[in-house]
Amino acid sequence: MKNPDHPLLKPVSVLQGVGEETAVQLGDMGIYTVSDLINYLPYRYDDFRLKDLSEAAHEERVTVEGSVHSEPALQFYGRKKSRLTFRLLTGPHSVKVTFFNQPYLKKKVNLHDKLTVTGKWDRQRQLITAQTYKLGEGSQEELFAPVYPLKGSVTNKTLRKFIKQALDLYSDSLAETLPQTLMMKYKLLNRKEALEAMHFPVSPESMKQARRRFVFEEFFYFQLKMQGLRKVEREQSKGVHFQYDADKLRDFTEKLPFPLTNAQKRVLKEIFADLSTPFRMNRLLQGDVGSGKTVVAAIALYAVITAGYQGALMVPTEILAEQHAESLAALFDGTGVTVALLTSSVKGKKRRLLLEQLKQGEIDLLVGTHALIQDEVDFKKLGLVITDEQHRFGVQQRRVLREKGESPDVLFMTATPIPRTLAITVFGEMDVSIIDEMPAGRKPIETYWVKENMMNRILSFIEKELEQGRQAYVICPLIEESDKLDVQNAIDVHAQLSQYYAGRYQAGLMHGRLHSDEKEAIMKQFAENETHILISTTVVEVGVNVPNASVMLIYDAERFGLSQLHQLRGRVGRGSDQSYCILMADPKNEVGKERMKIMTETNDGFVLSEKDLELRGPGDFFGRKQSGMPEFRVADMVHDYRALETARDDAHQLIESEIFWHSSDYEPLRSYLQAEGVISGGKLD
Ligand code: ADP
Ligand code: MG
Repeated sequence: MKNPDHPLLKPVSVLQGVGEETAVQLGDMGIYTVSDLINYLPYRYDDFRLKDLSEAAHEERVTVEGSVHSEPALQFYGRKKSRLTFRLLTGPHSVKVTFFNQPYLKKKVNLHDKLTVTGKWDRQRQLITAQTYKLGEGSQEELFAPVYPLKGSVTNKTLRKFIKQALDLYSDSLAETLPQTLMMKYKLLNRKEALEAMHFPVSPESMKQARRRFVFEEFFYFQLKMQGLRKVEREQSKGVHFQYDADKLRDFTEKLPFPLTNAQKRVLKEIFADLSTPFRMNRLLQGDVGSGKTVVAAIALYAVITAGYQGALMVPTEILAEQHAESLAALFDGTGVTVALLTSSVKGKKRRLLLEQLKQGEIDLLVGTHALIQDEVDFKKLGLVITDEQHRFGVQQRRVLREKGESPDVLFMTATPIPRTLAITVFGEMDVSIIDEMPAGRKPIETYWVKENMMNRILSFIEKELEQGRQAYVICPLIEESDKLDVQNAIDVHAQLSQYYAGRYQAGLMHGRLHSDEKEAIMKQFAENETHILISTTVVEVGVNVPNASVMLIYDAERFGLSQLHQLRGRVGRGSDQSYCILMADPKNEVGKERMKIMTETNDGFVLSEKDLELRGPGDFFGRKQSGMPEFRVADMVHDYRALETARDDAHQLIESEIFWHSSDYEPLRSYLQAEGVISGGKLD
């Protein structure tokens, strides 16, 4: 196709009827060549198949045929507006038909005429607001008509005429773009048939088959690129083949206070397979809150440390860094592993000493916030970096991390289950491991959705838990009162609850504006059960671990996303007791109500994340528009996700096969990878 003499690369002006002006207008639509035109796909189809009105939904677009059985009446109103109305007898129904602003139809449509009409059906008023009509019955030559995105004065009709001409003249030159094996495997239409069926479908079924082919093609090319990137990243990176001490590791695992779940064992196997290849690990570890990712991280880090390297664990908040440093130090007690904590509050002499020890290799494991990836931080021999709560780190930070030091292996952990579809698109170049099993004996958290008028009952419910020695979280959207938003704030709620429980229970107050020393002190008081209720903003969202807390009340819960609510809820239910989550919410719309309802129905983070994606759309899933989110012309990431998975598996297999890199059959695909900058010189070198 590089050859400019190729028929498909001829300018659109070779077509009859495409003059200079039209060519410019087509150019505005991105159509310059015959190929551009043929590949310009419709974004929807109008369905002109006859509809039985007893089955048509209110406001549905319908096509019916029948006979005119009242004299058409034309009324003018306003300055230029008109309405032509008559009754149409269609099957057993007599309905009213109205054409707006087409007064000339008065002369064309007469009593007793046979007519086919398309328009919007008003079920209540038994009325069709007509858009198009044809005289005579069975007169729609096309039952299924494509609608194209248009610009300027190019109409759908003229565009289709050009496309028809282009297909008639040039479609024999269309080359196939998918490998034969895949076409056969999935019984896909070939490119020529599929394009013809997209533009001129003879039936909805043929359009569906054509669409199926293009969905697969888009996903397959996308995944080919992702899998290509993955292979290049892996095989061209100089990773380390870690010679870890298997005996020490076995010892360590046996001394854990619990047996690992099967899911933990499986992901460890996947991680260890990476550690023992000479390639760099670039893996995403997904696991719901409480699924036990930390111990998996600890085992991987320990392996690397026994091989004589250092490890780093990077987390998004200081509290979390402190908790992790503490629990890892406890876990590694007696192993000789030295654990240090680096956050922005480690300053001055203490910091300089720590950095020096790190450089000398006297620290095995460094835990911290993104302070870890600053320039001044030098490791002696960094082998593995693990980041917790991956989604909080941007793409840029991910890159800095990968480039740090002597290119360490990287494991990204996230407790925000990312819907499969997004995981394999946004993180398509990564390997993904999933912990999809909870440690045994966990009781699902009971979740209730209540309104404010239940407040007294909730307070006594919380009190019953406190009486049994349990603890409670109370979450507010704001720190202090706002005159802009009518929502609860932590400072006021803290004052109220302190008063309510005065003399019986202690309430702590936590929010993001406190100094980290204060936060740490408050968290510690709560962890040690000196305070019994913790009123907080969402700073407790991530990772904080107080197993004795059994109830969480979330104010104005409709203000949080599903994934965030699930994260918050994950702060309770960490012990063996039954835990509760109470969502106080008064959502104003259906989506809001649906979100509260699904929270009460499932504890499964993956189910919630899929739902969140469905309700919010892929672009908003990460809270803001995520760059790097691919746009597909035909395919829909949410609804076509099965095809996306299939395409990924096929792309992966192909990229990993010898034949792909040698056979001339795959030359076009290799050229594509080259054009996309994934490989150079048509091969992996
Ligand atoms: P998360 O995946 O949310 O980071 P954690 O690693 O914090 O989960 O684990 C949550 C709790 O479950 C911790 O108290 C941890 O000690 C415990 N835990 C982890 N794995 C298991 C297991 N296999 N069996 C029992 N408890 C476990
Ligand atoms: Mg964790």
